[in-house]
Amino acid sequence: MNPESTLIPAHENPFESMMSRFDVAAKILNLDQGLYNVLKSPAKQVIVNLPVSMDDGSIQIFEGIRVVHNINLGPAKGGIRYSLDVNLDEVKALAAWMTWKCAVSNIPFGGGKGGIKCDPRSMSAGELERLTRAYTRAMIDVFGPEKDIPAPDMGTGPREMAWIMDQYSRLVGYSSPSVVTGKPLVMGGSKGRVEATGRGVMVAARSAMLKMGLNPFKSTCAVQGFGNVGSISAKLMEQQGLKVLAISDITGGYYNADGINIKEALAYSAAHGNQLTGFTGAEPITNEALLELPVDVLIPAAMEDQITAHNAANIQAKLIVEGANGPIAASADQTLNDKGVMVVPDILANAGGVTVSYFEWVQNRMGYFWTEERVNRRADRNMKEAFEQVYQTSLHHGCSMRIAAYVVAIDKVAQVTQLRGGI
Ligand code: NAD
Repeated sequence: MNPESTLIPAHENPFESMMSRFDVAAKILNLDQGLYNVLKSPAKQVIVNLPVSMDDGSIQIFEGIRVVHNINLGPAKGGIRYSLDVNLDEVKALAAWMTWKCAVSNIPFGGGKGGIKCDPRSMSAGELERLTRAYTRAMIDVFGPEKDIPAPDMGTGPREMAWIMDQYSRLVGYSSPSVVTGKPLVMGGSKGRVEATGRGVMVAARSAMLKMGLNPFKSTCAVQGFGNVGSISAKLMEQQGLKVLAISDITGGYYNADGINIKEALAYSAAHGNQLTGFTGAEPITNEALLELPVDVLIPAAMEDQITAHNAANIQAKLIVEGANGPIAASADQTLNDKGVMVVPDILANAGGVTVSYFEWVQNRMGYFWTEERVNRRADRNMKEAFEQVYQTSLHHGCSMRIAAYVVAIDKVAQVTQLRGGI
């Protein structure tokens, strides 16, 4: 029986969705039950209540979470999310994803993730700063350049990372830039970090196209999401010679059979509050229709669960490269496999970001900064090598690239867990 046919349907619960893929890979690896239990259990879960003085003089309590999933390959690495949807189950799933993402990309980090249940858009900069500093104080025994290194995620960015770095440094009594990545360039961020994820998506797409015999100059592409990952992916795919027939954002999709001029779309979006509404270089289509276009390459780079059992049969792309985290629900995997669609999974395809975060940490610890050219060259090489390893694993086990990525990651973390022992 094809082990992937045992995949359970899409779950509301992201941890169970992650585990359904994990279970298939564990079966292929014949993973020992004890090791299975170790790898599925987060090493640490910390939940704190953070009192913050609000601008109106009231005191509000916010819930903050940090989960360290596994630190056998190195210190935990993972972003901090500010959103009203933050909950322990989601943070646990995202932390485990980081473990697999770092392992599959040969980055010497474990996996972690954090979040604060809040609506950052309704808070002032002062309130957000007090909240971020309170969270850092509460996590002083969790964070550390050798222990757990946060980064930005939804609702946070370089500004929040600067506050964490400053608060942590005040508490330990010396300047500690390597406690956090995704910092502003001027205070120790890495060149190339802003473009890193989209660049990695492009390199993964090119590697897959090479295997599939797709000529970039004769291929077409559609990109869902026009934020950091989507817009950079679209720009770089166009530079590689592909015709980008459609792009989209939260305002809808935009289609042009002759190819969209991505430079124009970028300029338009930048001049219109980072949104494409009213973009005239294309006709409007829906986000759903964009996913079903007859293109060679589809890059979902907006959000999770965009391709599910509901629309998987209508997908016409030959290759899907997951720029976003979890854009394909587990329930769609089998249909896409049966249709022969190659899927480069999120834990491989969007690992360019964490790779350059790792480079930022390395540069901070060296106190010596690399040129953008060096950052890009090393990140590209890392992505190509990781892709090749996953591709060969998929051939070896006769499984999809997604399951192969989990096999590579779980095998590595399991081996190191056994070698370290101490259980
Ligand atoms: P972003 O906020 O910069 O951009 C998100 C884009 O998606 C925006 O254009 C937004 O309008 C669009 N969007 C939102 N809801 C949509 C919807 N319902 N339909 C269509 N478009 C919609 O975010 P980002 O940093 O580009 O992240 C996108 C995805 O990539 C997320 O899943 C994120 O977790 C993942 N990711 C990001 C990075 C990174 O370095 N930024 C790294 C790895 C993974």
